[in-house]
Amino acid sequence: MRRKKYIIGNWKMNGLAQDLQQIGEINTFCGRNDSVDSAICPPVTLISGAAQVNTDITIGAQDVHHNEAGAHTGCLSAAMLKEAGARFSIVGHSERRADQGETDALVAAKAKALKTAGMNAILCVGETLETRDAGNAIDFVTAQLLASLPEEASSKWLTVAYEPVWAIGTGRVPQSADIADMHAALRAALTDRIGSDGDNMRILYGGSVNGGNASEILTLDNVDGALVGGASLTADKFLPILEAVA
Ligand code: PEP
Repeated sequence: MRRKKYIIGNWKMNGLAQDLQQIGEINTFCGRNDSVDSAICPPVTLISGAAQVNTDITIGAQDVHHNEAGAHTGCLSAAMLKEAGARFSIVGHSERRADQGETDALVAAKAKALKTAGMNAILCVGETLETRDAGNAIDFVTAQLLASLPEEASSKWLTVAYEPVWAIGTGRVPQSADIADMHAALRAALTDRIGSDGDNMRILYGGSVNGGNASEILTLDNVDGALVGGASLTADKFLPILEAVA
């Protein structure tokens, strides 16, 4: 199965209007290369500005509320994000699972809300160092994925991102064999759950990906792209990752 590589930048709580020029530079690269799919998830305040001028790169959100509307102060619905220009949202990022106590069931509901609004979802899963050291990483992450996957999951609108919590923002990356083993296990869990379409679904790796390690990681079996935090904040750091697959 040929799955087109997908590289997504997650800006987290970084970026002011002056940083939109970084997205502009990345957009120019994307306009010249259609061999890789690329997206940036800026903070919500920049989604509209980014989407209006950058039509060759997909703009996404970092989180979404699971309800369509209502008394949820400070939250944003899928329809609101879509109207602002986002085509998808990340759900279940480990920082939200840890900081906001998001459960697997809530993550599944958020993904479903995106589908209902006609948007795509990037569903994050990953183990802590404690779980990895205890030798339970594959069992834990597989169970987390199956519990976070909404019933309607399909490769048409959902992408999985495996992000070991201990690799995020730390400069530490798992051994290549460990990444490949995890992605193979997630692939098997997906095909078991959703049938042959599980083979079409992209599984990204995330955790300290940069221009130096991207080509090794992105050639591993079942690694269909990367979710990138720190190295996505500037075009000069992000473009080498795109170039590694373009
Ligand atoms: C992330 O937060 O999704 C991430 C992968 O961050 P970093 O690339 O900085 O490790």
